Amino acid sequence: MTEWYSEGLSFKCTGCGKCCTGSPGAVWINEDETEAMAQHLNLSKEDFLNKYTRLIDGRRSLIESISPLDPTQHDCIFLKNKQCSIYQVRPVQCRTYPWWPDNLKSEKAWNKEAAHCEGIKTSDVEKVSLKVIKDSLNDYQNARSRS
Ligand code: SF4
Ligand code: SF4
Repeated sequence: MTEWYSEGLSFKCTGCGKCCTGSPGAVWINEDETEAMAQHLNLSKEDFLNKYTRLIDGRRSLIESISPLDPTQHDCIFLKNKQCSIYQVRPVQCRTYPWWPDNLKSEKAWNKEAAHCEGIKTSDVEKVSLKVIKDSLNDYQNARSRS
C-alpha cells in the first residue's frame, strides 16, 4: 500500500511547547519509560508513580497542572518555561509526535493537526522522509502496546 505521505512531510519543531499543554489529555507511559524517568529524577519507581502519574481506565499517564501562563490550559507536569524538564527521558509518545497514527491516517487529519502544531507543514524546511515517519510510527505503536 502506498501511503499518502510517501514523498515525506514537511515538519520542523520550533520548540514552541504547545504540544505539552492545552486541553486535558494523557501522556501514556509504560514500564520502561517509568523506570527511566524515575531513575533520571533519583526517585524510586513507587515515588515517581505516586508523585507524577495517574491511572486512566487502567492505563498509566503523566499528570497535568494548571498552566501558570494561562489558567485555562493544562500543562504536562514536566513542562517548565515552555520546555520539557525531562527531555532526555521523555516518553515515546512525546518523542514520536507528530508521527502518530491518528495524525497520519489521512491528509485531512494531518492538516487538522497543523492547527495545533506550528512545526507541521513549515514550507521552508526539508521534508521528513517516509522512513523516519514509519520508524516513528513503529516506535509509537510498540510503546503503546506495552502501556
Ligand atoms: S507543537 Fe509542534 S512545533 Fe511546537 S513544540 Fe510541539 S512539535 Fe514542536
Ligand atoms: S514529558 Fe516533556 S515532552 Fe512529554 S508532554 Fe511532558 S513536557 Fe512535553
